[in-house]
Amino acid sequence: MYIVQIASECAPVIKAGGLGDVVYGLSRELENQGHCVELILPKYDCMRYDHIWGLHDAYKDLYVPWFDSWIHCSVYCGWVHGRVCFFIEPHSEDFFFDRGTYYGCNDDNMRFAFFSKAALEFLLQSNKRPDIIHCHDWQTGLVPVMLFEIYKYHGMANQRVCYTIHNFKHQGFGGTDILEATQLRRPEYYFSYDKLRDNFNPFSINFMKGGIVYANAVNTVSPHHAWEARHTTISYGLGHTLEIHQDKFTGILNGIDYGFWNPENDRYLPYDYSADSFEQKHYNTKALRERLLLREENKPIVCFIGRLDDQKGVHLVHHAMYYTLERGGQFVLLGSATESSIDKWFRHEKEFLNSNPDCHIELGFNEELSHLIYAGSDMIVVPSNFEPCGLTQVIALKYGTVPIVRGVGGLVNTVFDHDYDQAHPPEKRNGFVFYESDNVALESGMTRAFDLWGQNRKIFNQLAIQGMKYDYSWKDPAQEYVELYDRIRVKY
Ligand code: ADP
Repeated sequence: MYIVQIASECAPVIKAGGLGDVVYGLSRELENQGHCVELILPKYDCMRYDHIWGLHDAYKDLYVPWFDSWIHCSVYCGWVHGRVCFFIEPHSEDFFFDRGTYYGCNDDNMRFAFFSKAALEFLLQSNKRPDIIHCHDWQTGLVPVMLFEIYKYHGMANQRVCYTIHNFKHQGFGGTDILEATQLRRPEYYFSYDKLRDNFNPFSINFMKGGIVYANAVNTVSPHHAWEARHTTISYGLGHTLEIHQDKFTGILNGIDYGFWNPENDRYLPYDYSADSFEQKHYNTKALRERLLLREENKPIVCFIGRLDDQKGVHLVHHAMYYTLERGGQFVLLGSATESSIDKWFRHEKEFLNSNPDCHIELGFNEELSHLIYAGSDMIVVPSNFEPCGLTQVIALKYGTVPIVRGVGGLVNTVFDHDYDQAHPPEKRNGFVFYESDNVALESGMTRAFDLWGQNRKIFNQLAIQGMKYDYSWKDPAQEYVELYDRIRVKY
């Protein structure tokens, strides 16, 4: 099959979170399974150009219709660790992708509406006719809308869309100006509740709702989160829309790319190890302590890696840090906050704990350091309020770092409690799970982990090794996507 991914991220060249990992990892596995995959991405000024090989202009004059005129774009082509990527660069005074940041601008809705339009226009103009267009999250929610309302009538009648929702919290909103800009010209038609009108704000269109309504298949990134989206409030107002479109809505668990996340040959680790040489892991622990100036003592290292925001249970992360110190452990935090109050809070904590030899707070995004933290830590906490899939616990498992997670979303599908899991025999369990979102529940999970580490290291290590043996690669999930693509594609 010929598959084109349209997305706002692709690791490692553009990565703000798990979306980037998924777009890259899935594309790579689909290619390994014999499919032809191309990616279309924005050409941000701040992306990691050092991860692109052979960047060249592939399509010089792409004119993208926009409002009553058009925007002149260039399309560049390059290889990101083997994947063929097309980067769209608009030449306009809006400087859509020259903002020094991927997200967080006041006109993000315009920026990504434009990107979606430009991606389709590029396919049309360059005569690319993929079997499947796979788009992701709100940024590309308008792709199926424009495909089936505009581009279908210009020679793209045989393309089919798979739309993957990585996070329901960010849906993308806009007014009639978005419709005018993208030339979806009949506001009265698009502003109906069965199309783009937001279910709760009658003055707004909802990009993600458009994606759900128009795509041929819709999924989120774990089976349990798909259930939550339909039956709880976690779909942030889209429950009714999912109910209507339930027949095309599923959950497919994310994988991780073991070419990149593998302690047996990780380019960022000083010492390689595997489940069979688990005892080598502690050399990385030593290296982590040296790098972060933590004291060398017989204490467990607990880590947190991720965005510092409400979704990730930031208050519980904060509590986990102090609880670890109280229990005589060491804590390493690597995270970044977009909300200024949370950023200030953790900057203050960093200053406060600066001279503590058992704690290190690293604020910012640091891919390389994250590998050493995964490898050097004994446990990772993931106390999320909600978690569509969650990659940090899956990466941690591969690195023999025992996850302590809240039982929500994809965490339920990947972590099985050492003491209480009913569905897996003891030799298949791999972590600790708690359910309520409060300090007491978090402590119950952490206490069990600390006690096992302190009182029976052999069994603790065995639990870590069992986690390393799980296969959360892209092999099976990619196969599920292929089956889904095959169900919706046009058979010639
Ligand atoms: P999200 O909700 O942010 O997508 P996931 O758990 O799905 O969360 O994916 C997070 C990905 O981003 C993981 O690969 C994790 O290692 C990485 N990550 C998150 N924060 C940082 C950071 N501050 N520095 C380096 N990597 C990070």
